[in-house]
Amino acid sequence: MTTEDQFVLGVDLDGVCADFYGKMREVVAYWRGVDPDTLPRDVSYGLPQWGVSSLDEYKRIHRYAVKECRLFLDVHPIAGCVQSLRRLSTEGVRIRVITHRIFISYFHKTAVKQTVEWLDRHAIPYWDLCFMKEKGHVNADIYIEDGEENIRKLEKHNRAVVAFTNSTNARMHPAPVMRAETWAEAEDFVRRAYYSWRSRRNLSLPPGPGYPPTGTVAV
Ligand SMILES: [Mg+2]
Repeated sequence: MTTEDQFVLGVDLDGVCADFYGKMREVVAYWRGVDPDTLPRDVSYGLPQWGVSSLDEYKRIHRYAVKECRLFLDVHPIAGCVQSLRRLSTEGVRIRVITHRIFISYFHKTAVKQTVEWLDRHAIPYWDLCFMKEKGHVNADIYIEDGEENIRKLEKHNRAVVAFTNSTNARMHPAPVMRAETWAEAEDFVRRAYYSWRSRRNLSLPPGPGYPPTGTVAV
């Protein structure tokens, strides 16, 4: 079976599968010598609300978080994520992880190693793992993404993208075409698109969430 025969979900990691801001909150609090509870929940990209003063400082803290605090290994999955991905995968969706985690130089090996270990640690099913900025260059039938710039770009190129809500994108204006507050909602968007894709090809549908389509065998 080629990938043209499969429905591909392109899923981002940080802010979608991984609670990046939850773990970074602990790291930034330690970095600054303050109680994590003093850092507001409502934060935007670059973390200015937590006293991070520049992109340069953000990169220094990010590098420290990965190299010394195992950010990508110890970050918690976002609630419901792994179960949703397992159900969709069993139903025949090809999971394609697309992340821009190596945007900071000189610790790529650590970042990639932690990422792969984390995906295995949480038994997240995936067939492809892409480290890249331009997510639209990796073909997917539907994307789940939290980065405002990425959401805009994908929408501009008529890609189906579910905006996964967090404080960095909650005030997007105009609002994204599809928005999910939880993984249950994101899963529902993906499943509806997938079932419609299968129906257009006269393929059988799964008998229920988390089951392989009738007449097929789960892999
Ligand atoms: Mg993200």
